[in-house]
Amino acid sequence: MPTPAAIAALKAAAGADWTDDPELIAPSLTDWRGKYTGQTPLLLLPRSTAAVAAIVKAAAAHGTALVPQGGNTGLVGGGIPAADGTGVLLSTRRMNSIRRVDVDGQLLVAEAGVILSDVHAAAADHGLAFPLSLGAKGSATVGGLAATNAGGVQVLRHGTMRALVAGIEAVMPDGSILNQLQGLVKDNSGLDIKQLLIGAEGTLGIITALALKLVPAPAYRAIGWAGMDRPQRALALLTRLRRLSGGQVESFELVPGDGVALTAAQLGLRPPLAGWHRWQCLVELAGPMPLDDVLAAALADADDAVIAQNDAQGAALWRLREELPLAERRAGPAVHHDIAVPVADMPDFAEAATLRVEAEFPGARVLAFGHLGDGNLHFNVRPPEHGADPADWVAGNGAAVTALVHTLVAAAGGSISAEHGIGVLKRDDLARLGDPARLAAMRSIKAALDPQNIMNPGKIY
Ligand code: FAD
Repeated sequence: MPTPAAIAALKAAAGADWTDDPELIAPSLTDWRGKYTGQTPLLLLPRSTAAVAAIVKAAAAHGTALVPQGGNTGLVGGGIPAADGTGVLLSTRRMNSIRRVDVDGQLLVAEAGVILSDVHAAAADHGLAFPLSLGAKGSATVGGLAATNAGGVQVLRHGTMRALVAGIEAVMPDGSILNQLQGLVKDNSGLDIKQLLIGAEGTLGIITALALKLVPAPAYRAIGWAGMDRPQRALALLTRLRRLSGGQVESFELVPGDGVALTAAQLGLRPPLAGWHRWQCLVELAGPMPLDDVLAAALADADDAVIAQNDAQGAALWRLREELPLAERRAGPAVHHDIAVPVADMPDFAEAATLRVEAEFPGARVLAFGHLGDGNLHFNVRPPEHGADPADWVAGNGAAVTALVHTLVAAAGGSISAEHGIGVLKRDDLARLGDPARLAAMRSIKAALDPQNIMNPGKIY
């Protein structure tokens, strides 16, 4: 536990912006999936970079662990303090100003606690767009998105946060402030420290602001939904769409028929396609010219397809996709995976891994959905419909299911974390399956930058 002197120093550094009221702290102690619950004696709520720097200096002086937290939508337990109460939570939620929008430079500078949907709105006010979106956009903060190198539904065209951050401001573990918000297009003056902080899940420093890259808001969008029997045909559809549209595929999401049925039933919606289709895709094209004809030509090969005729229909199709993780959560416990293999291999991998998992765990049902164009699926395994209590089944089998899925992924040259990060959830499997040379380099960097291990200890490494 932090000593009384450490707590007093942290409170002094935070000025009036802290609470030690257990009732106010409680909502920040459990993660979105309800998998992890931690403890902390103190929640710090700084409003400025200077305050964060003062806090980190106080933490360094007392050797106290800090756990950064943004919107608490992370899916790997990275923003939750340890159960032993040794870490102090630092929330960025009060650092929520958009400092500037640079129209000519196509940049938006936002403090770490700005919510993603507020970035979307601010960019739209200037005829621009921030091309990263995901289901948690109403709560996830840009600091958390950068710290987890989040992906989402537009990665195949615009990349993950690594590609979308032009500059960073952060407080390093010794309390120094890294000032790299200029957003230079070219800068070959040594190592790119911002790329170390992106994806570090708060273990190398606290991100306080980001310069985010914007793109012109597309004048036209064409959104469609298609059904087919096998994922290989979905990938062929993506290739065809890319060729016909000249690279204007903004999103390409794969959803299984039973996931569509589950979500539609919960939301009281009619599924977009009549009849049963084992695999279905949500596709979006975006660009400066109308794209409906291109989309219609590409979808002609599908078993069935619809094209949204207006914004409301497009939004309804997106709602089905974005609500799927929430519908799945409401349907009960499952064993979750966020995996990637090379794009061209994903359809075969998805089929083979499904057969293998369902054979080794009789009655279990794979629900795999997500970003086929990035080679990234959320390969979730649901308990048998009849028999043991679902929670008991997950508790009894979850570790073995995950060990099998991750072993199959590693054998396919893939990643056990495509976009959610490592946090606590995948720490052991990263140590078991990660490239040893990469792991050694990561641990050396962590030890060099944070020798006291005060930045989000117990995560990743
Ligand atoms: P938190 O959950 O608060 O924190 C996440 C991690 O970042 C923690 O390790 C924390 O310590 C660290 N952190 C937070 N802020 C900072 C900071 N300022 N400086 C340093 N470290 C910090 N992810 C995808 O990539 N693609 C998806 O499609 C996707 N869909 C999702 C859908 C739903 C419904 C949900 C709930 C989540 C989804 N996610 C997805 C997960 C995604 O990782 C998080 O939504 C987001 O990236 C985390 O942002 P946050 O502000 O909530 O961070």
